[in-house]
Amino acid sequence: MASNDKKYVYAFEEGDGKDKKLLGGKGANLCEMTQIGLNVPPGFVISTEACLTYLDDPKRQLPPGVMEHVRANVQALEQKTGKAFGGADNPLLVSVRSGSAMSMPGMMDTILNLGLNADTLKGLIERTGNERFGYDAYRRFIQLFGKVALGVADEHFDEHFEAVKQRAGVKADIGLSADDLKEVSESFLQVVQEQTGHPFPADPYAQLEIAIKAVFNSWSGKRAVDYRREFHITPEMANGTAVNVVTMVFGNMGNDCATGVGFTRDPGTGENVMFGEYLVNAQGEDVVAGIRTPKPVLAMKAEMPELYSQLVELRNKLESHYQEVQDFEYTIENGVLYCLQTRNGKMNAAAMVRSSVEMAHEGLIGREQALLRIQPEILEQLLHPRLDPQHKVSSIAQGLPASPGAASGKAVFDADRAELIGRAGQKVILVREETKPEDIHGFFASQGILTSRGGKTSHAAVVARGMGKPCVAGAEGIAVNVKARMAAIGECVINEGDTITIDGTSGNVYLGEIPTVDSEFSDNLKTLLGWADEAARLKVMANADTPDAAEKARGFGAVGIGLCRTERMFNAVERLPVVVDMILADTLEERRGALDRLLPMQRSDFKGIFKAMSPFPVTVRLLDPPMHEFLPTEHQLMDELEHLRKLQVNMQGMSELVASMRLLRPESGQTGMPAPFDVFNAELAAEAIAKKEKMLAKVRNLFEVNPMLGHRGVRLGITFPEIYRMQIQGILEAAAECSRDGIEAHPEIMVPQVISPAELAIIKGLVDDVQTQVEKHYGVELQFKFGTMMETVRATLRAERIAGIAEFFSFGTNDLSQATFSFSREDAENKFLPQYIERGILRDNPFEALDHNGVGKLMAIAVGDGRQARPELKVGICGEHGGHPRSIHFCHRVGLNYVSCSGPRVPVARLAAAQAKLREEDPSVFD
Ligand code: PEP
Ligand code: MG
Repeated sequence: MASNDKKYVYAFEEGDGKDKKLLGGKGANLCEMTQIGLNVPPGFVISTEACLTYLDDPKRQLPPGVMEHVRANVQALEQKTGKAFGGADNPLLVSVRSGSAMSMPGMMDTILNLGLNADTLKGLIERTGNERFGYDAYRRFIQLFGKVALGVADEHFDEHFEAVKQRAGVKADIGLSADDLKEVSESFLQVVQEQTGHPFPADPYAQLEIAIKAVFNSWSGKRAVDYRREFHITPEMANGTAVNVVTMVFGNMGNDCATGVGFTRDPGTGENVMFGEYLVNAQGEDVVAGIRTPKPVLAMKAEMPELYSQLVELRNKLESHYQEVQDFEYTIENGVLYCLQTRNGKMNAAAMVRSSVEMAHEGLIGREQALLRIQPEILEQLLHPRLDPQHKVSSIAQGLPASPGAASGKAVFDADRAELIGRAGQKVILVREETKPEDIHGFFASQGILTSRGGKTSHAAVVARGMGKPCVAGAEGIAVNVKARMAAIGECVINEGDTITIDGTSGNVYLGEIPTVDSEFSDNLKTLLGWADEAARLKVMANADTPDAAEKARGFGAVGIGLCRTERMFNAVERLPVVVDMILADTLEERRGALDRLLPMQRSDFKGIFKAMSPFPVTVRLLDPPMHEFLPTEHQLMDELEHLRKLQVNMQGMSELVASMRLLRPESGQTGMPAPFDVFNAELAAEAIAKKEKMLAKVRNLFEVNPMLGHRGVRLGITFPEIYRMQIQGILEAAAECSRDGIEAHPEIMVPQVISPAELAIIKGLVDDVQTQVEKHYGVELQFKFGTMMETVRATLRAERIAGIAEFFSFGTNDLSQATFSFSREDAENKFLPQYIERGILRDNPFEALDHNGVGKLMAIAVGDGRQARPELKVGICGEHGGHPRSIHFCHRVGLNYVSCSGPRVPVARLAAAQAKLREEDPSVFD
């Protein structure tokens, strides 16, 4: 085809609505709307190919034939509208808009009311009967055209505009009269003449040609080029901009005119009712500027019944064509309804869920579509209390949204006091620089946790998420001073006891109490997730450490526990002293004594959890953290010792004082220390000092340079087999008791930090031994599984041999990601990771989104090799990634049987698991 025959211009009736590359997103959408029979203002699109050819031409001429086709199309518009381009009587005005295949909001300009000149302006004023509107439209057109198409900077216009406003004595544009605006228009024409050396082009076709070229040029303008670089928009995604020329329609030509915006369903609730607002005899700007208050769309039924039924018809067409809730804009010009724009409506989570279920019930969409149209993450909004959306309070600080939900309470700076105040029935927010395992009792007592250091996978974040409590982590603007019992954010001070509110969904921190709205697990959500479970292949389990958490997780739809971290039980207040005794034990006998006291506690924990989850499996992980985590820090102990020693000296002084008193005033009858000091004595102090000194020696002895890579996990089990034996006994005895009580229990014993089959064989030996004893003692046959965490690189590479012993693998991707990257999670998130992501070195935080290419490769090896040895090998994931939708897609693809995540993430994971199955053939999921 010769180049001048090439088709560059497409009427809305003929452009392919799917071809966004050729017509741009907006152009394609306008063509599609026209072709499905919506009354779109007539118009046409000049293609992106025309743009590229134009930009390639050093002379910057429009490709041959383009302007002829544009003229022919404008004539067609004249016929369709009965208006004339440049006509003084009933002028046809158009908008000229850019639009590439990818949306680039605000990067390229739009020109409205093109076609205006001194003659057509008269016609516009006559038609609208509104002189002020006519001149306002004219002055806007001159400035916009002057700026976009002729390159005249805004300040030249603004100077004149401000002068007129000053003279008229008004502050806002709205105060200007028709005469003022007429004066502004005239001075603007003058500005163009002065700045360009030419009069403002009056010929509408000349205006149109200049405008088309200007829009094409804007594609290679600095703003647009920078935007594409910033958002990685490649030529394959969008190349060149199209130009849309659309007939202007006016909603302000009389009382049979209106302008409005609508949603096909209520975006707040999802209810199947048309929603929106309109204004009679007005233009869209009146709504935006807040000059008049729009009416609810239902009022149109009485005011303009005929148009209302047209609007209902439009709504029905939109939904049945797009099969999605639409957010649309319309204008009514002299009794004719035009649809100007439509796009998928943005709605909150509750509305998405309700509309999905209802649209499926109405037969508008299938169940698959009902599941696929919802982003899994948004479901979490529904499962936690949220801040009242009406609140107007500004935040005082911002951190990372580490665990969703909102909570208010008194700021308290240490876990002991949080427990004290919490137990007294008060609401508490635990505020710390960062948290440690020994703060666990403070978590239990608090409504939420706020830290000034640490990332989304810090201790505070992980534990809070596990408990379903809100957490804002790493709010670096807050300086926490535990000693002074206060926190400072610039000038603002939070003293202990002051009420604060945290929003773990946004990361905001507020002073005072902000009302919250309760969570809702609606019937619609239950229905939707029921469909999800039917569609999914992956099962969804929960990470839960207590019977209460297990119960909650079940409520969220978990079909088992994929990770029960036993160390959380060790940290409970009444147990920690026993655990400490076990650690401080000098002999095996002493240690066994402490373990004997721990055994019944563990047994009853496990029984409670098995019962809460029955008949689903419960995976219990044997002790993982290094011992020192259960002891105070060296620093803390030294502080305490110093205090105790001072106390001892004081006590001695007091005793001497009492003795001297007796000599001085024998009649006082004082023979001992006065209350309340009588409970203290030097012996007591000496005993406490001795215990702390022993602990300090132990802490120093347990010191490790790199504790996370040190003496922990199965390494503890190998060196202190009596600890693991006690835990195994607790698990199996709990199972035996359940079986005796008629409760179906399926425990799975899981060993952490394994690197070799030899380690696993040793622990399996313990399990076999304990099993024999328990079965004999209880007279039952136990059903359980024995398996391993996959969280070291070596384990993934030795999976085939390990699967010879393990009946299941569970990927601990928190540790496995640290090990694969050789990053320490906490340090990475606090220091260099943000820059790595900003600079594109890494696409995501690997501790949030599973790294498919590295960690994922190791997982694939382990799954493949493991199933070589044991085809029925059950494989799951229990790291944080188990609740992350994109990572869940990966887990599905790599052949896992289940994912396990914190309770409130379970609904998110159920939907993501369904989507993973429904999209398994779609390669773009990982783009
Ligand atoms: C993991 O490493 O992914 C895991 C679940 O264990 P933890 O987070 O307790 O180390
Ligand atoms: Mg781990």
